Amino acid sequence: MAGVQTPIYLEVPSLGPSFLKPRRRRARHRGSPFSLATTYARMGTRKKVHAFVRVKPTDNFAHEMIRYGDDNKTIDIHLKKDIRRGVVNNQQTDWSFKLDGVLHDASQDLVYETVAKDVVSQALDGYNGTIMCYGQTGAGKTYTMTGATENYKHRGILPRALQQVFRMIEERPTHAITVRVSYLEIYNENLFDLLSTLPYVGPSVTPMTIVENPQGVFIKGLSVHHTSQEEDAFSLLFEGETNRIIASHTMNKNSSRSHCIFTIYLEAHSRTLSEEKYITSKINLVDLAGSERLGKSGSEGRVLKEATYINKSLSFLEQAIIALGDQKRDHIPFRQCKLTHSLKDSLGGNCNMVLVTNIYGEAAQLEETLSSLRFASRMRLVTTEPAINEKYDAERMVKNLEKELALLKQELAIHDSLTSRTFVTYDPMDEIQIAEINSQVRRYLEGTLDEIDIINLRQIKEVFNQFRVVLSQQEQEVESTLRRKYTLIDKNDFAAISAVQKAGLVDVDGHLVGEPEGQSFGLGVAPFSTKPGKKAKSKKTSKEPLSSSAKKEGASSPVSAKDLDMVSTSKTQLVPSSKDGDVKDMLLRDRETSSIEPPLSDSPKEEVRPIRPDTPPSKPVAFEEFKNERGSEINRIFKENKSILNERRKRASETTQRINAIKREIDVTMEALNFQKSLREKQGEYENKGLMIIDEEEFLLILKLKDLKKQYRSEYQDLRDLRAEIQYCQHLVDQCRHRLLMEFDIWYNESFVIPEDIQMALKPGSSIRPGMVPMNRIVSLGEDDQDKFSQLQQRVLPEGPDSISFYNAKVKTEQKHNYLKTMMGLQQAHRK
Ligand code: ADP
Ligand code: MG
Repeated sequence: MAGVQTPIYLEVPSLGPSFLKPRRRRARHRGSPFSLATTYARMGTRKKVHAFVRVKPTDNFAHEMIRYGDDNKTIDIHLKKDIRRGVVNNQQTDWSFKLDGVLHDASQDLVYETVAKDVVSQALDGYNGTIMCYGQTGAGKTYTMTGATENYKHRGILPRALQQVFRMIEERPTHAITVRVSYLEIYNENLFDLLSTLPYVGPSVTPMTIVENPQGVFIKGLSVHHTSQEEDAFSLLFEGETNRIIASHTMNKNSSRSHCIFTIYLEAHSRTLSEEKYITSKINLVDLAGSERLGKSGSEGRVLKEATYINKSLSFLEQAIIALGDQKRDHIPFRQCKLTHSLKDSLGGNCNMVLVTNIYGEAAQLEETLSSLRFASRMRLVTTEPAINEKYDAERMVKNLEKELALLKQELAIHDSLTSRTFVTYDPMDEIQIAEINSQVRRYLEGTLDEIDIINLRQIKEVFNQFRVVLSQQEQEVESTLRRKYTLIDKNDFAAISAVQKAGLVDVDGHLVGEPEGQSFGLGVAPFSTKPGKKAKSKKTSKEPLSSSAKKEGASSPVSAKDLDMVSTSKTQLVPSSKDGDVKDMLLRDRETSSIEPPLSDSPKEEVRPIRPDTPPSKPVAFEEFKNERGSEINRIFKENKSILNERRKRASETTQRINAIKREIDVTMEALNFQKSLREKQGEYENKGLMIIDEEEFLLILKLKDLKKQYRSEYQDLRDLRAEIQYCQHLVDQCRHRLLMEFDIWYNESFVIPEDIQMALKPGSSIRPGMVPMNRIVSLGEDDQDKFSQLQQRVLPEGPDSISFYNAKVKTEQKHNYLKTMMGLQQAHRK
């Protein structure tokens, strides 16, 4: 029967929780409602309420009736048959009660050690504790709980508990523990604050009420007093005791018929850990009213009322205890009376609970003794599951989280610096950062950037995004470039195709002549599509641009301007010329500048270098060499473009001259026409049916003027077209010039300036040609890095001064490394 679980308990030899058998049973938490604010850290063990019996010392101890077991944990009661007393009848004469300990002739000291010490010490760890004294009036409840207030040696549990609390607080300097106390008396179902007489409390306006909230049960209106030392706590205890006695006189109360609850509230915050978690607990020390039954004495009036009440509240306590001890019961009648209601979260539940039953050892009281012992054994059936009351300090929690956040950011910064990701931020990217990523992506696609470093997730996303942006831009660019540079012929435009066929460029199937099967139809001449560096060595493949091999042989492109004019009126190819004087000028101007702009073509990596001269040649001399060597192709294109530009300029000026001539002729014709007109007006007009009649001369002049105007318009249109073409050519020439100079600079640096070993060092794994990098960068002593680290220091160090030595060491190491690397390079270069 796996579903049914019968509780099995070990006999508990002491109060220590380690002796308790852990149980799987679901915890029942009737006493303490759970809340967001309070959590209970379970010990994982259930525990029975501990019930002790304290026997009041007497000279008339009933030895023949009361016997203790050898283990001191059983009391056997034996009644002689001839004794006839009340409920005790002849039918049963022997009872045996199992308990957690019998305290006979025990000192106050021993009682405290046995009963209260562990409960109090566990309260400092966050466990609630309740110690109750039960028994008939005069049996020693108050003596046990409060003790003799005039004799230190005979002080009871209460003052000893306060002492232990303060001693333990002293022993725990790591925790800030606050102690507060309250003292409540319940008499005839009324609540009294035994500490209300203190001057700072003042008389309560509204009667006290029992309030339940997620934190537990508390008495609204009951004064709670903070005490920082033992002495203050004692004063409060004595104040309460005095009030108890005074009240019994002035209000005519029978003090033995009231319940008194002294509560010690503890709250412990860690001083060292600054934890947001803190623990709270309370120790309820309960001195119950006398448990004697209402006698036959016929109490009347006030006495009867009192007696009835006392019995009632104690019997409600008993009912609650029985319900708590019954595993099947879900409802516990806590609210039936003030006593059980106010003790709701201190009975059973998550508390450590101890009952001391005070009994007389005398034969005359045996009836009440039996009744008290029954209560004690019922109490032993109640199980509790002590748990730590943990609470969260929201303010501290926020502070701690903030602290942790700052720490993690710092940690991240350190991590980034260790992995050389020095300027990583984790904020959203701004426009500049996005533009930078766009440029990285472009350089990556061009091949000038080998890889894009991964910085963080945001950056990765942006990189992908920019890939898309660049791709779509490039698609557009490619298309417009094609349209600008090539004549695209529609496959369905048969007239155009036949024209091209006539020129011998395509076969009848529309394929380029010499093109393998299946290749797409396209025509064009790309002035920049040739790769000058590679050209010298690269194997000619059929896929190579059409112009490449042809140009090398010095022939004009298969599709020349002339050919294209047959099929289209689009831009014509630019034809060579031989002037490059302006480049020379620029070269002389630019000889000290160095460009780091990416080249437009691949670098000639596999090129065999000629033996290098000892001193680099002057730039103009080197430039001549460059033009014949590596730069020959680009120089040729440059010259071609320039000559076309000049030709267009010439044509434009010719057209302008023609336009001016036409204009002049128009003016002359206009004058002649006006003369004819005035002549006609002088001679008188001929009119025939509304039509003007003019002579032949005038008519010819009009025709001539019309023709001139037409010519003028046509020429003017030509001039406009020419100007547009000139502008375009100018742009091409500028681009070419720039490219020529840049290539020259790179070539010059690589050929004469940068030590070859440094070039070698820069080469592996990098597509950046050494010549592109400015000299001051190549042989720098790491100023950039220094700058980088001083910035890092400024940013990181204020947060963590401990890291100063760490960073200093890193910067120094880096500097040394840079210096050695450069010096080695220079020495090697020198030796050569
Ligand atoms: P209760 O509070 O149960 O009515 P008290 O604690 O007032 O009983 O005890 C009645 C009297 O008996 C007191 O004068 C008290 O000093 C005395 N007394 C009770 N228990 C002991 C004990 N264990 N040792 C010495 N005196 C005791
Ligand atoms: Mg008492």
